[in-house]
This record gives sequence, structure tokens and C-alpha cells, in this order.
Amino acid sequence: MPEPLHTMTAATTPSVIIIGGGFGGLSAARALARAPVHVTLIDRHNYHLFQPLLYQVATAGLAPNTIAAPIRAILRRQANATVLMEAVTGIDAAKRSVLIGEKHLDYDFLVIATGARHAYFGHGDWERFAPGIKTLADALTIRQHVLAAFEAAEICHESNERRRLLNFVLVGAGPTGVEFAGAIAELAKVSLAHDFCRINPSDARIILIEAGPRILPSFPPKLSAAAQQALEKLGVEVRLGKAVTLCDADGVVLAGERIEARNILWAAGVAASPAATWLNVAADRAGRIEVLEDLSVPGHPEIFAIGDTCVSKSWNGKSAPGIAPAAKQMGRHVAAVIRAHVEETSSPPPFRYRHQGSLATIGRNKAVVDFIWMTLSGRLAWLLWAFAHIYFLIGFRSRVVVALDWLWAYVTFRRGARIILGETGDAVMAPQPQRS
Ligand SMILES: Cc1cc2nc3c(=O)[nH]c(=O)nc-3n(C[C@H](O)[C@H](O)[C@H](O)COP(=O)(O)OP(=O)(O)OC[C@H]3O[C@@H](n4cnc5c(N)ncnc54)[C@H](O)[C@@H]3O)c2cc1C
Repeated sequence: MPEPLHTMTAATTPSVIIIGGGFGGLSAARALARAPVHVTLIDRHNYHLFQPLLYQVATAGLAPNTIAAPIRAILRRQANATVLMEAVTGIDAAKRSVLIGEKHLDYDFLVIATGARHAYFGHGDWERFAPGIKTLADALTIRQHVLAAFEAAEICHESNERRRLLNFVLVGAGPTGVEFAGAIAELAKVSLAHDFCRINPSDARIILIEAGPRILPSFPPKLSAAAQQALEKLGVEVRLGKAVTLCDADGVVLAGERIEARNILWAAGVAASPAATWLNVAADRAGRIEVLEDLSVPGHPEIFAIGDTCVSKSWNGKSAPGIAPAAKQMGRHVAAVIRAHVEETSSPPPFRYRHQGSLATIGRNKAVVDFIWMTLSGRLAWLLWAFAHIYFLIGFRSRVVVALDWLWAYVTFRRGARIILGETGDAVMAPQPQRS
């Protein structure tokens, strides 16, 4: 018999449990601040993560604490909210209980906002050779691998191995792959360019692979072309129309051609959290729960799934995209639906996703912006991108620190977070170099 968790809920106050303190879960919790409910937000981490800037942590542009904020601190003024740092392991929908290992916590309403991870299209074994970036730990591991590869190349005496160490392959040319490729190119060709004696970091090859016919497929073709041109100007090799058929410790195979590399980064495909399995409900191929118009789970009007872990045909009949604004809008919507239930008022109209635009940066002074009614590329787009990311970061301190870090990097061409944690040989993806 699972052990009940202590809750601070008074018996008469409806209990809302939110699983996940990402963009969706946090926006639902905040929107319930004045509702007559008790909110328990459970996350396996103690921080909310601003994922759009993860690649900057992975490429030594920003320190990790600038893009993560403690959930407890964010909600500290919300009297009706409790935060628990726990990893949810299942849901007993019949008993209205969230399972946390041997413990359980009962709910009246449940919001599942557990996000997604990367998908390897049936090749889960590739993950150890080609890590994806989703958590702060992923970003720090990748930063370690990328910086350690230059260090290993500096002391490597075997030319083929040195070449492999300085080859960086990125799989997937959506916004994450494109931003990553641009940032690694700038790191190698600008920030590190004069810091080594025996290697020239500018010799690094950055290869961006996309199975589709163009990069940034969700943007208009002319912005894809502008972004590709900007990447190529930075020295990134863009390989289109061919899928990776093998990933191993020595690199990737692309339509029969082997590209040798010690650093492979995965930015292709997402798989939702196991929430659909927990509930045993219908899911799409990516594992996302197919929700109803009010974002509730079919057959469970008291359970809602939002953000990256659901699929909602709420964008003029199309699925809402897996981006932060969609998760936030969904969070606010389920809060309104729950409030209407509790206060016995009329339910809000069905959820409709409102798209405000898409942005991606390629590097210093280069970005693409698609506002639907207007598209932009170049420096103005980059300024808009930078402004939007600073504006949406949580916390005044983070905004100021990120703005100052970017200003510093802009003026000096340096990257401030180039620390390799651990010692030589500790957790670096690159194998031990040969020493003379
Ligand atoms: C590298 C990267 C770059 C991105 N760039 C952009 C961008 O530029 N613009 C944009 O709009 N979107 C971007 N996105 C997408 C955006 O971040 C997601 O769409 C958004 O985070 C989805 O919000 P969510 O609340 O559904 O999930 P998330 O924000 O992922 O939050 C899920 C939360 O659930 C928690 N959790 C998961 N499982 C459990 C469990 N079992 N128990 C307890 N807690 C759990 C996690 O710790 C996490 O805090 C990017 C994503 C990535 C990975």
C-alpha cells in the first residue's frame, strides 16, 4: 500500500496537482494564484529552466544559473501554492492519485506538464554517442565535451585523431541545431581562435545535417535560405536531404558516407514524457497525449495535459507547436477551466493557440524572425531575438546578467563560461589523446 504524502491542503479546498515546473506548469500555477484551490507543483528539479538558451550554456556563452531559477523562489509569494521536488513515477487515475515511488498524493484536478525529451527514431543506443540537449545537466555535459575536445586536440600527436577531435557534427537543423551550429562556429573561429599553441581552433569543421530539403523547416523558405547563407559564412557545412543511418564512437554515417567526429550533438526529433503510458490513453507517434478542446484527457475531465506532452489541434485545425508560448497559453487556459469548475461558472471557450512568431539566431548580428505578417533577417532580427529572450527570462537578476554577458561578449568577442568541470579524463567524450 503506497504511503500518503503529507499535504497542506485543508479538507474543503480542492487540490490541484501540477506535474512539471516548466513553461506550461508554471504558467498554470501562477494563473491559479487567486483561485480557491490549493496548488501543489511537483518537479524532479528544483528549478525552472529557460530551455531556449540552453545551447548558450552548452557553448560557454552563459553560466547555468543565468537561465535557471528556483521554482520555490518563483512561487514564494503565492499563498495557495506548495512546491515539491520529487520525480513522479505514475498516476492512479481511478484513485485520483499521483504516484511518487512508494508515496502517493491525491488530487481533485491534475495538470500534466512534463514536457518532452529527444527522440532517436528507434535508435536509442545512439544517445550515448550523440547526446541531445534538454536539461541543464545535458548542457553542462556538452559544454564539457566541446571544450575538452579542443584541449585533447592540443595535446594529440596523431593527425587523424586531432582531426576527429575538431570535427563537430550536429544532427537536425531546426532552431536548436541551427543555433548550436552557429554558436560552436563562433566559439571555434572567434572566441578560441588565439588561445591555443599547437592547434588552430579555426580549423574545426562544424557539419550540420538535415534529412529534409532545407534548414529551419518551420520558417518561410526565404528565411531558411538566409539562415543557411549566414551559417555558411561562419564556416558551417550544411548537408541537406540525407538522413544519418548510423552513430557510433567514431562519428556518423550519412547515406553511405562516414563523417568522423568525436563530438556529435543530437537536435532531431522529440518524444513526449511517459504521461500517456501512465494513464494508458491514446497518444500520437511522438507519445503526446491527444487532448480534447479544453485540454482535458479523454475520459478524464479532471486531468489536463499541456505543453510538449500533449497534442492539441488548436492552431486553426493544426497541432499547436512544441514551443514555450504554446505551453504558457495552455497553462493559462487550464487554470481558467479549473477555476470555472471550482467556482461553478461557465467554462471558457475551447482552447485556441495564438501564434506570435518564430525566432532563431545564427550568431553575432544574425537571426531570422517570422512574425507571419512580416519577416526579417540580419542585425535587426538579431536585436529583436536578443530583446525577446531577455524579456522572457524569469527574474530581474538573470535579465541583467544575461544582458551584460551578451554586451561583454559583443564588445570583446569572448565567452565567459569556458570552465571544464572535472579533471583530464573525467567524463570527456573525446578519448584519451596520445601523449608524447
Ligand atoms: C534546446 C531547446 C531549445 C528551445 N528553443 C526554443 C525557443 O527558442 N523558443 C521556444 O518557444 N521554444 C523553444 N524550445 C521549446 C520549449 O522549451 C518547450 O516547448 C517548452 O519548454 C515546453 O514547455 P513544457 O512546460 O511542456 O515542458 P518543459 O518546459 O520541458 O517542462 C517540463 C518539466 O517537467 C519536469 N518533469 C518531467 N518529468 C517529470 C517527472 N516524472 N516528475 C517530475 N517532474 C517532471 C521537468 O523537470 C521540467 O521542469 C526549445 C527546447 C529545447 C530543448
